Amino acid sequence: MTARPIAVVGASAAGLAAAEALRRGGWRGPLTLIGDEPHLPYDRPPLSKQLLHGAWEPDRLLLRTEEQLAPLGLDLRLGTRATGLDVATRTLTLDGGERLGCAGVIIATGVGARTLPGADRIAGVHTLRTLDEALALRGRLAHGGTPGRRLVIVGNGVLGCEAAAVARELGHDVTLVGIEPTPMAAAVGTEVGELLAEEHRARGVRLLTGAVDGFETAPADPDGSDPQITAVRLASGGPPGSGAAGGSSRLPADLVLLAIGSRPAVEWLADPALDTTDGLRCDEYCAAAPGIYAAGDVARWDHPVHGRPLRFEHRMNATEQGMAAARNLLAELTTTADATGVAEDAPAPERRPFAPVPYFWSDQYDLKLQAYGLTAGADRVEATVLDRAERRVLALYGRDGHAVGVLAAGLPPRRIRALRAVIATPLPWEEARERIGAATAGD
Ligand SMILES: Cc1cc2nc3c(=O)[nH]c(=O)nc-3n(C[C@H](O)[C@H](O)[C@H](O)COP(=O)(O)OP(=O)(O)OC[C@H]3O[C@@H](n4cnc5c(N)ncnc54)[C@H](O)[C@@H]3O)c2cc1C
Repeated sequence: MTARPIAVVGASAAGLAAAEALRRGGWRGPLTLIGDEPHLPYDRPPLSKQLLHGAWEPDRLLLRTEEQLAPLGLDLRLGTRATGLDVATRTLTLDGGERLGCAGVIIATGVGARTLPGADRIAGVHTLRTLDEALALRGRLAHGGTPGRRLVIVGNGVLGCEAAAVARELGHDVTLVGIEPTPMAAAVGTEVGELLAEEHRARGVRLLTGAVDGFETAPADPDGSDPQITAVRLASGGPPGSGAAGGSSRLPADLVLLAIGSRPAVEWLADPALDTTDGLRCDEYCAAAPGIYAAGDVARWDHPVHGRPLRFEHRMNATEQGMAAARNLLAELTTTADATGVAEDAPAPERRPFAPVPYFWSDQYDLKLQAYGLTAGADRVEATVLDRAERRVLALYGRDGHAVGVLAAGLPPRRIRALRAVIATPLPWEEARERIGAATAGD
């Protein structure tokens, strides 16, 4: 009997890791990798760093070359969108109308950039999620104008902060606006956010608090092209000292970057058997339904150590979860009739809960922040400046009396690795403080 294919939807970090793990794990049947972007799988973190800066060209972002992909024997469908999934029969629908009955499906469709109403019809207003979007913004920062263009970045989260750093380094006039009073507060808390704010201010970024009320544009061009952005309007200013107080809420702009977060790409999954509230809900094995698994930014799964559903938009999680979902799908298939695609000599794996130590990093100027565990949603944060001149920072994050996350900047790699071990499982707050202190002694 010919095996039905396994389909991986989303041809990026998580999808590629899943496809490779399926082959490594013994899947010899057909393997389809579907991605709606026209490009081979590429790495996203450099988009807001080296690529935006112009230091790297797009080919450096490729996760695999065509030659490296060839041994996987993929049925690679780039520029193809999955538009539906029937969970009971594991049948995918593709945008050309094709229906694909599968032995198993791994969903790795990530997230898409959030935007604001009407923004896509204004020239000079950008988002930054895909390679094409990053190249468009880079073109405007590099050749489209001389340094000194007025860039307003809406959203002071990780992405907004990284783009602000690059644009300042390129000599542009940068305003960073967010609804949070300090940069990256949602991800790392206000204590670390304040330290970041100092860094951005010292580099000449103007920081404002406020929500966008609308855009102003030059009169539309007679040639029918989109009207050009001229200013961003903020809703009734920000707190005193923000610069937006007192009704002065018009920010002149040549360019705008909307960095206001993302939405899980689940709109194509309408099957009532799936819960798509804030990502695709999965169990601890990354299974959303029998034979249907999810990985990466799109997956919200029961983290066994933290005991609640979590979803991360972290690069390392995408790879690790892609591998875990593939392993668990294979383990499930080996016990069912769909085992026809699994090599006979493949080891029969057991499904294993996916329990990573979350990790993310962010590069801004020459500052590298690295965090393990959970830093968002903490009810207690203790941030210590170990060395102001060297900009060495250590912060511990707690929840319900336990330490659950740690963030460091400016620490040597061996110390960072030691932090990971300490925070791998939640520890009582005081015990964690002592162990973190010992792990960083001498810094
Ligand atoms: C600019 C930027 C900078 C970042 N920097 C960092 C960083 O410094 N550190 C860090 O830890 N993380 C960073 N991240 C996050 C990291 O890149 C993501 O966590 C990672 O890319 C997630 O991988 P993924 O495969 O789950 O999803 P994605 O990379 O989002 O890929 C999903 C793919 O699926 C495609 N797709 C969506 N819907 C469909 C459909 N219906 N049919 C077919 N294809 C579909 C999408 O177009 C996309 O190509 C950054 C992200 C961005 C955008």
